[in-house]
Amino acid sequence: MAEKCDFLVIGGGIAGIGAASQLAPNAKTILLEMEATIGFHSTGRSAAIFSRNYGNAVIRALNLASEGTLRNPQGICEGPVLTQCRV
Ligand SMILES: Cc1cc2nc3c(=O)[nH]c(=O)nc-3n(C[C@H](O)[C@H](O)[C@H](O)COP(=O)(O)OP(=O)(O)OC[C@H]3O[C@@H](n4cnc5c(N)ncnc54)[C@H](O)[C@@H]3O)c2cc1C
Repeated sequence: MAEKCDFLVIGGGIAGIGAASQLAPNAKTILLEMEATIGFHSTGRSAAIFSRNYGNAVIRALNLASEGTLRNPQGICEGPVLTQCRV
């Protein structure tokens, strides 16, 4: 069945889901995932630790840009996203 959309996001990892969640309120968005479930690959294996210094320069810039929202996610979700862990 053919279906039209404004944005087609390929990949249901955190990057694709994150992009699709931002696009979907304002445009018809379809997310395609080749596996039976989303988060099947890297995302499903992540230790889910936030580290400012993780990754290359682009990722570190994204980490820095998102830190404020992760620490204070008002308007996105209830309760904290980050909790202190012993790593
Ligand atoms: C063991 C482990 C621990 C980690 N721990 C941390 C951590 O503590 N903190 C941290 O910040 N990061 C961590 N990471 C890294 C983090 O998990 C990844 O950077 C992140 O999940 C990548 O997300 P992604 O959406 O880019 O990729 P993925 O999660 O791999 O998602 C890509 C998706 O695209 C789908 N796909 C690919 N090609 C197609 C196609 N042609 N059609 C349809 N679907 C397709 C795949 O099936 C997959 O679901 C860890 C990674 C691993 C492996």
